[in-house]
Parts: sequence; C-alpha cells; structure tokens
Amino acid sequence: MKVYKFGGASVKSAEGIRNVEHILSMTDVPLFVIISAMGKTTNAMEVVLNHFMNHQTTEAIDKWAEVESYHLQIASELTEDKLWGFNVLRPIFDEMREKLQNTYPGEYDQTYDAIVSYGELLSTTLISSYLNKVGIENQWLDMRRLILTDSNFREATVRLEDSQHQLELAADFSKCRIYIGQGFIGGNKHGQPTTLGREGSDYSAAVVGNLLQAESVTIWKDVPGILNADPRIFPNTVLIPELTYYDAVELAFSGAQIIHPKTIKPLENKQIPLYVKPFEHPEMPGSVIKGSIAKPIDIPVLIVRKNLTLVTIRPLDFSFVLEDSLSKMFTLLHKHRLKVSLIQSSAVTISVCVDNVRRLSAAIDELGNDFRVSYNEGLELLTIRGTSPQLIEKVTKGRDILMSQHTRRTAKFLMKSICQ
Ligand code: ASP
Ligand code: MG
Repeated sequence: MKVYKFGGASVKSAEGIRNVEHILSMTDVPLFVIISAMGKTTNAMEVVLNHFMNHQTTEAIDKWAEVESYHLQIASELTEDKLWGFNVLRPIFDEMREKLQNTYPGEYDQTYDAIVSYGELLSTTLISSYLNKVGIENQWLDMRRLILTDSNFREATVRLEDSQHQLELAADFSKCRIYIGQGFIGGNKHGQPTTLGREGSDYSAAVVGNLLQAESVTIWKDVPGILNADPRIFPNTVLIPELTYYDAVELAFSGAQIIHPKTIKPLENKQIPLYVKPFEHPEMPGSVIKGSIAKPIDIPVLIVRKNLTLVTIRPLDFSFVLEDSLSKMFTLLHKHRLKVSLIQSSAVTISVCVDNVRRLSAAIDELGNDFRVSYNEGLELLTIRGTSPQLIEKVTKGRDILMSQHTRRTAKFLMKSICQ
C-alpha cells in the first residue's frame, strides 16, 4: 500500500477536490489518504478558539459560521444536489455549535486541540463522502481513535506501538482499497483530541507510512517538487530531483517549508521513500527523498526562516556561561517548548535564536530570574548550502547581519527582516 497526503492548499476549492478525485483514479494500489483542513481553515479555527477562550460566544459562533459557509460553498460547487453538503456536514456543524454555546473553555492547549481539530474533520468528511458519491469507494476513519498520542496538547507525541495496533485493525485493505483519515490530529488515552503541531499533516502521513509499512509516501503539493529556494523570495529556482533523508532533515530544520521537520524520521527508520509531487501535474516526477541517491545535490540551496528572536543571556555573577548555565537555559527552553535554530556562545554570554511564539515572553521572564537577558526581535535566518562568496555577496548585500556561522558546506546569516 501507499500513503498519499493532500495539504490544505490542494483541497481549498471544488476544483482541488476534483483533482484529488483525478489523482486517486489514476492508480489501483491500496491507499491510505491523509488530508489536511481546507485552505486556511486551521487559521480560522484558531480565531474561533480565541473568541471561545475569551467567552465571546457570539463572535466565536460568527467565525464558525464563516467556516461552515466556506465548506458549504465548496460542496455546492461539487454537485448539483443542493442539500448534499449540508446533510453530510450537519452533525459536525451541530456538534461545534453545541460546544461553543453550552460548554466552558478549559486549559488553552487542551481546548485548542478540541476545537481546532474540527478543520480536518470537516475536510475529510466532505471529501470522503464526495468520492464515494462519484464512485471512488473509500472508508472514512477517525484518526482521534487511531493515532494514539501522549497528552502534550498542541505538540503531541505519537505512541507508535498502540497506534500501529489500532491502525492495522481499522485499515483492512482486503475489505476496502482506499481509507481516508485526517492529518494533524490524534487522541490521548482518555479519548481527548490532540494535535501534532501546526503543519503536522505531513508528519501524520509519515507515521501512517511507518506503521503500515507503506511502499512509499507521496505528499501532493502546489509546487513542482522540492526547489532549491522559495520562489516567492528568490528568482530562478530549480527542482532538486533527489535528496537523502539527511539532506531533507537539514533543509526542513533550516526552515524550508516544503515538509514538516518531524516527517523524515519515521520514514528513514523504515527506509520508505517520500515523494513530493505537483498536485496539478501528477504525471510529472517531482522530487524523491530516500536513503541513497545517484547524484548528490550540486546546486546551492537557499532557505529563509522568518519571525525569529535572538535571546542572549549572561549570568548575573560573571561566571563562565558554558560551565554553569547551559543546562539551566536549555531545560527552560525545553519546558516552554521553544525551538532553537542557532546557538552561539562567548565566555560569559550565550545567544540562541528561537521562533517568536506565544510562549517566548514567559520563557524570557523566567530566564530573568537567573540571568541578565536581552533580546532582539524581527529577525530571519538565511541558510545557504553549497555556497560561494559571490552568492553570499549577492543575497546578503545591504542587509543588517547580526550573526553568521560558516561550515565547509553551509553558511548561516541571522539578519534583520526587511519589512514588506
Ligand atoms: N491543518 C493543519 C495546519 O494548517 C495541519 C496541516 O495542514 O498540516 O497547520
Ligand atoms: Mg497545510
């Protein structure tokens, strides 16, 4: 069997869903299909959540009504049958309205997962029903019961063995060729919904691939494959046809948005190839990530990671920072689940570059108990692999560089973002 994953951009319109239909009809191998929330639904659900957390029931329901209309609009473009979409989605609509109207929010992260996971429930329910309607027989699965996780809400870790058991029971390919499940979501042992981190559907696909020993995993994207740079930032990008797992992990970690960084490990562990293919041109080869490749990447790769903050700490008593403070600092960053993308130290200071996320200010406050802390916001990290002095000159010209690191193959520049 193979795993296919369709992201939000691929299923953001009726046309996109017809394209999913087309891609699924091109093959007759058993498939496990992972689907994200449609378009920007997850962002919209975060707005619903924030109103709900603030007890703004009317605003929460208004925003949810927008999400409902968006899905109904797509449904109405998919079929002539005016009532079909409403009938299919109604149980989900009712469930969410009931929650927003008649329950109280709990702890933020837990409530986040309980509410935001509805984006994927809507998309998979609608698409599964549509495909059955047009003759692509499939079975919808509730991944909250199959991808079993710990209770680390919003960034849950999958309990692999338990999930494998559940998945194998649920996806019996002798009974049905195509199973459809949600990306991004799982559930803990108390049956509460959890999520795997923003953009986590790729990771869901990789986990399913690993647990069901898939022949391959394919991520269908709105780009031709993996490019050597983000075409929105750099001109003249080229496709990288083959990458090793190692290349892919490094690129994803540096901020390449093409795949979620956690995706590679489950695939590498079982040596399952990962294809990244263009959704609009399924016949094109795209890129493949696998254990060994014929030809190493021989073009420069440029990656920009945005919205970073550089946090610098210095012990209050002038002690050597690497001796005393390192573990204290990292324990704290870990506690606040901050992801570090660059580290630099001197005798009495250590600087780390972290994503500018909601938890950062709490971490900075707490660091302030033990250290003198300063920070610099609005930064971006440019990573160049396979670099040359000319290229560096070209892409960093006129930029305000706060820090740089060079190895034989890679150069990293932490720079002030240019306001757009
Ligand atoms: N729907 C989720 C998000 O937008 C997960 C995903 O698309 O991968 O973050
Ligand atoms: Mg997405």
